[in-house]
Amino acid sequence: MTDPSVRRDVHSFANPDEVRVRHVELDLDVDFGRRILAGSAVLHFERPDSSARRLLLDTRGLEIGGVERIRGGAWSTARHELGAADPILGAPLAVDLEPGDDRVRIAYATRPGASGLQWLEPAQTAGKRHPFLFSQSQAIHARSWVPVQDTPAVRVTYEATLRTPSDLVALMGAAGNSTGERGGVYRFRMPQRIPAYLMAIAAGDIAFAPLGPRSGVYAEPSVVGRAAAEFEDTERMMAAAERLYGAYRWDRYDILVLPPSFPFGGMENPRLTFATPTVLAGDKSLVSLIAHELAHSWSGNLVTNATWSDFWLNEGFTTYIERRIVEEVYGPETAAMEAVLGRQDLEDELARLEDRDEILHIDLSGRDPDEGATRLPYEKGALFLRSLEEIFGRARFDAFLRGYFDHFAFQSIVTEDFTAYLRANLFDGDRGRATSVPLEEWMERPGLPASAPRPSSEALGRVAHAAEDWTAGRPAAAKAGFPGWTTHERLQFLRRLPSPLDVERLQELDGAFGLTATENSEVAFQWLLMALRGGYGASDARLEQFLVSIGRRKFIKPLYEELVKTDAGRERARAIYRKARPGYHPISVETVDRIVGSAA
Ligand SMILES: [Zn+2]
Repeated sequence: MTDPSVRRDVHSFANPDEVRVRHVELDLDVDFGRRILAGSAVLHFERPDSSARRLLLDTRGLEIGGVERIRGGAWSTARHELGAADPILGAPLAVDLEPGDDRVRIAYATRPGASGLQWLEPAQTAGKRHPFLFSQSQAIHARSWVPVQDTPAVRVTYEATLRTPSDLVALMGAAGNSTGERGGVYRFRMPQRIPAYLMAIAAGDIAFAPLGPRSGVYAEPSVVGRAAAEFEDTERMMAAAERLYGAYRWDRYDILVLPPSFPFGGMENPRLTFATPTVLAGDKSLVSLIAHELAHSWSGNLVTNATWSDFWLNEGFTTYIERRIVEEVYGPETAAMEAVLGRQDLEDELARLEDRDEILHIDLSGRDPDEGATRLPYEKGALFLRSLEEIFGRARFDAFLRGYFDHFAFQSIVTEDFTAYLRANLFDGDRGRATSVPLEEWMERPGLPASAPRPSSEALGRVAHAAEDWTAGRPAAAKAGFPGWTTHERLQFLRRLPSPLDVERLQELDGAFGLTATENSEVAFQWLLMALRGGYGASDARLEQFLVSIGRRKFIKPLYEELVKTDAGRERARAIYRKARPGYHPISVETVDRIVGSAA
């Protein structure tokens, strides 16, 4: 597609085909006492349809103080109307325009429960002395803290002034982040066009440590040193990605490590990845998360899904690229292990999902786009791209992908734009190979084509044997191997054991490998799930501590789902959730409410 043609986005009220916002100026107070952002947004727009008389914006729960337009160089009141709120989409804000209007100013404040913001008490931070704020705008939460055209089809530049208490630091996914200076007034400028879901803000007691000439890490002072050690390979990852897919186009790449309530592993906010502290394993074993968020600098942030039905264009590409970066930096065996575990994750999803949710080009009409955020678009999308690589050869496929990123740079596209480009630039040059790609089946049908790649890993094959031996009562190989195994190998071992295991066998495992005590979040999660299934009471306290201290949805959702399968478990889930819920992010609360019941 060529900008600015727009496809219908069922998750936005905006009318960008008539009036299209191009630049946003934010001026906001970060008010920790009232848990609100308050101030104004000036929206600069173009008018592709000069006869259109209304600007339509997305909002969710915003208090609109007033709207103004420029008349004779001075601001004057503009008529506006806030429509009825839809439970998924929020409320449309319509502003009446006169001929010649090219900007409006909206005075507004967020509400304390804004779905895109989490306000943390000092007790929920590592330092325990200062409050903390962070945003999560994807998929349609930007509208809960900025009145915008909240569709990924619309890209804007922005600038912002933020005021915080003078001893705190504010950051945005933009230029202007402080590397030490404090003072309570911060100015930002985002020169690259981005969709609203990539707008990001954070504030708290935040320190900085450089990683390289154009990268660094932000975190609370007690965490920043550990984070810098964990992420020391970031520059090498950037260099690897640039060799494969062309220049990094966002100037700087920094990482902000958030408190543990962050509901996701990472969020690819341009220039400033937001990351969960649960990847700080101490041995760099979980840093493929950074490879993933960095990969989004090409797939997702540079070439963007224009609607949430095209989410696989963001996540399938990114998962594929993540493994290519891991291969360059950590070698083919590590990348192979991640691909094998990825296919296992996908098969688990396929066993669980309804047919309609197994389709890459998913229909999300009438649904919250957060419902489409399963592992499916990540792993099925990555397998599809891997199958193209295998069929056309790595050299040709790499050149194709690099051309794709150049061709669609800073644009938002739909699945049909990709498939048209694929046909013209890869298939047409080799009709013979192209016939072996079941493209329609990959895009539009549930399940996996029979020809889908089956990644394999020698190391994981050995571990699978050790798991079989252990199951058959021969624990020697596992006992000898486990202490030296990587996180991936440990996960594979645990996943390959029968399920459920009886209590004596769980006890034997725990005794041999200290699983209840592990601090590695991925291994702990896998173990707690097994312990629950087998009714192993010795890890009950650890389970509660894990669920109360961590809000990452990938971990807590399956554990609560497992708990509620029995009556006694449901009672425990309720008791734990009563303690945990006040600390969870609104997105995790919404998820767990559905599982446990909001009356918890
Ligand atoms: Zn991603």
